[in-house]
Amino acid sequence: MKRIAVYPGTFDPFTNGHIDIVERGLRIFDELIVAVAANPHKSQLFTVEERKEIIRDAIKDMRNVRVDSFDDLLVDYVRNQKANVVIRGLRAVSDFEYEFQMALMNRKICEEVETVFMMPNQAYSYLSSRIVKEIALLGGSVSGLVPPLAEKMLRERCQALGKGAK
Ligand code: ADP
Repeated sequence: MKRIAVYPGTFDPFTNGHIDIVERGLRIFDELIVAVAANPHKSQLFTVEERKEIIRDAIKDMRNVRVDSFDDLLVDYVRNQKANVVIRGLRAVSDFEYEFQMALMNRKICEEVETVFMMPNQAYSYLSSRIVKEIALLGGSVSGLVPPLAEKMLRERCQALGKGAK
């Protein structure tokens, strides 16, 4: 049986830390689905389609990984994909409380879906989509923090908003 894992997240935008987790996940699982959460209650810089475009470009040279989006309950989405594992990244202790709550709640809703936590390379432990957006909106360089298409689209979006680098 194929071991299929879902890596869900907001990915607004996808960062090099997310890529690191995808690469680690591919060493363990046969197939990985990067699943963009379409949460209408959270305001994002990029649309779901734009976030998917960035991820698709970032993973174009990798095998056994694809991008998708979901707007239903995560465990339902996982089961519909014939997967039974959720991958989440753990950067620091500060991530733990929220992730612990989510994992246990998902287990309560669906016993057969397992959550696996992966630690990124320590070089990415300070990196988050939120901080990347803050840097870009204030005109700083995000080179080396995000994949190339994310960097380009961040620059364009900031310019369109009248913020960021000239
Ligand atoms: P969410 O809103 O679901 O937390 P994010 O896009 O912020 O979405 O993160 C998705 C997943 O990737 C989460 O498990 C998060 O802990 C993990 N993650 C975020 N940034 C990094 C990073 N720099 N290194 C490793 N994992 C990360």
